[in-house]
Amino acid sequence: MPNNTHIQYLKGIGPAKAKQLERLEIHTVEDLLHYYPRTYQDRRLGVPPNEYNSEALVVFKGRVLRTQEIPARSVLIFKAFLEDEQGRQVECTWFKKRMYRPVRFDPFGVLKKDFHLNNEVWVIGRRENKNNFFGNKITVEEQYAAQDVLSELHTGRLTPIYALTEGLTNKQFRLFVYEALQTDSLASEPEILPPSLLSKRKLLSAPQALKAIHFPHSLAELESARARLAYEEFLLLATAWGIKRTQTKVLAKDYSYQIKKNLLTPFRERLGFGFTNSQKKVINEIFNDLCSPRPMNRLLQGDVGSGKTVVALCAMLLAVENGYQAALMAPTEILAEQHYFTFKKMLADLPVKVAVLTSSTKAAARKKILKELADGSLHILIGTHAVIQDDVQFHNLRLAVIDEQHRFGVKQRSKLKEKTAKLDLLTMTATPIPRTLALAFYGDLDVSTIGELPPGRQAIVTQTATAKLAYERVREEVQNGRQAYIVFPLIEESEKVSAKAVTEEFEKLKKVFPQFRLAMLHGQMSQAEKEKIMADFAAHQTDILVATPVIEVGIDVKNATVMVIENAERFGLASLHQLRGRVGRGEHQSYCLLVCEHAGSVAGERVDIICATRDGFKIGERDMQLRGPGEILGTRQSGELEFKAGDIFKDRDILYWAIQDRDELLTQDPALARPEHFLFRQKLQELYQKNWHLIDLS
Ligand code: ADP
Ligand code: MG
Repeated sequence: MPNNTHIQYLKGIGPAKAKQLERLEIHTVEDLLHYYPRTYQDRRLGVPPNEYNSEALVVFKGRVLRTQEIPARSVLIFKAFLEDEQGRQVECTWFKKRMYRPVRFDPFGVLKKDFHLNNEVWVIGRRENKNNFFGNKITVEEQYAAQDVLSELHTGRLTPIYALTEGLTNKQFRLFVYEALQTDSLASEPEILPPSLLSKRKLLSAPQALKAIHFPHSLAELESARARLAYEEFLLLATAWGIKRTQTKVLAKDYSYQIKKNLLTPFRERLGFGFTNSQKKVINEIFNDLCSPRPMNRLLQGDVGSGKTVVALCAMLLAVENGYQAALMAPTEILAEQHYFTFKKMLADLPVKVAVLTSSTKAAARKKILKELADGSLHILIGTHAVIQDDVQFHNLRLAVIDEQHRFGVKQRSKLKEKTAKLDLLTMTATPIPRTLALAFYGDLDVSTIGELPPGRQAIVTQTATAKLAYERVREEVQNGRQAYIVFPLIEESEKVSAKAVTEEFEKLKKVFPQFRLAMLHGQMSQAEKEKIMADFAAHQTDILVATPVIEVGIDVKNATVMVIENAERFGLASLHQLRGRVGRGEHQSYCLLVCEHAGSVAGERVDIICATRDGFKIGERDMQLRGPGEILGTRQSGELEFKAGDIFKDRDILYWAIQDRDELLTQDPALARPEHFLFRQKLQELYQKNWHLIDLS
């Protein structure tokens, strides 16, 4: 049976089960073999509990002494008393809901076949009372007759536990995998890794690793299997990026830049502050890229408030100085609008024409913008993803800047990639990518980092607080002429429900602060309303802005000094850090107050991290550990960074091996044309077609 055989032809699986398996993206025997366990239970006898087991797990092999049925009102109970070779006894209990059944149906019929006097059985269950030392009373989860030859798949070993959907049990699934491992599909599982690397890194072969990842004989064997599979995943992805990088390196621009300074110099003179050293350094790096003969693909990372916007503006001015157009894209309309006002202010009386385009731009205004873009009289276009729609045609767009790039969806990003393939591209983020990741997987990307904040910024005092104390602080600050944000979480991801909730809170807060001017902002308002409210707040026409997380990124009002985050436990780490970054932008001492309903758990851990850490890079790294890289980089759906076996944090050493070996591989055989690399290359292409659309390997 070749390993691309459809799953329904495997022994024990029919069309119905195949449907359920397809929900897990398992279509072929090969898919099944590569559906690795989520975790393992140590069901070996006489082995002390280890990391895989919770305290309450009991694994027991014994002889049936007697059984008993207890009919109760709502549940039916079956009990079996077992004794093992050392004479220890356990009392096992099964519960079944009482349901209407035909009279002669016995809900414990199947059990009774194995659980009869003197028969040898295995039971796996949970202690009914955690404090009961030996656990001699257990609620059973799985049981097997010892004479059943296949029971050794399930018990007496490190037992695989899979993440399954409804209708599938681990017991069944183990049998399916066992069947798949029996067929010759395992033998036909190709070894894609070149033999030289296998021996250099002392890795298990592909069939060995697959067998051991599902049914390991020991923890050591399991680790070797995982290492081999992780290495393979890392090497494939690192190589894909490596190839991409060599390809973009040879691309040449058919346009060039010169630093003329007829706009840059007057811009700098009017700015009102000098650049920080970090800003100077990254502006240099960006200008070098722009003046080089190949297209720029640079990620600018810098903590919240580090001043990325002016850096981007400098790059855009260089484009305009050279007679080209530039575009800036932001993930929200509010942020796009704000950038527009910032640019207008900073570029006042310079001969640079700027416009903003979002999905709520009125038809007439939109038409005018499109016309001026096409004839080249508009120099800089700011907007949301509306900017990349097909009918938006530029006269000579050369530079695209993407702000808060991690906030764009996968679809938008691949569209962006399409549109910007031959452009100079600057992406900006405050959610930094850990260095190892950036190097390995964004190998085609150059990274610039702003490592300092503008001078005079004070550390933001970050604390958990009761609502009462938080409002006290708000009152004090507003009385001193400052402003405050009070933010509520999004509810069930729905803007509508959130808008309603925040409206109710707004009414309550008006009573808490009758003497102040309050305004409300949420995603359901019209663009004109949002603009007016932001403009009023920026001009200090209002004191307190009550909002949903629409204000999370980019908003810049220097006089605001208090950020109250309600239900802080509902926010992710990156969001908390971004929200905190809305204050502390001027010379005044600022506060970020986290109002939590329940402490403890992962949520509480996030709040603790935010209180203890100011460094956005550390926060980014912790966030990635808590949530996984795919989630953070928005690549989850695309499968771009989903590792099945590997973990970029735990398997750092293996990751370094892979990067090192990738570099050697591509130096020796850049096109992977040698026969020993044929299967590896084929696998790369297959993966590229399946999930890596974003990595353009063509
Ligand atoms: P972010 O990196 O979070 O996008 P912004 O670009 O919004 O940060 O900058 C935050 C604030 O700091 C803005 O008000 C900006 O004008 C100001 N700023 C930027 N660079 C400097 C500097 N070198 N000195 C003083 N203020 C600066
Ligand atoms: Mg910004």
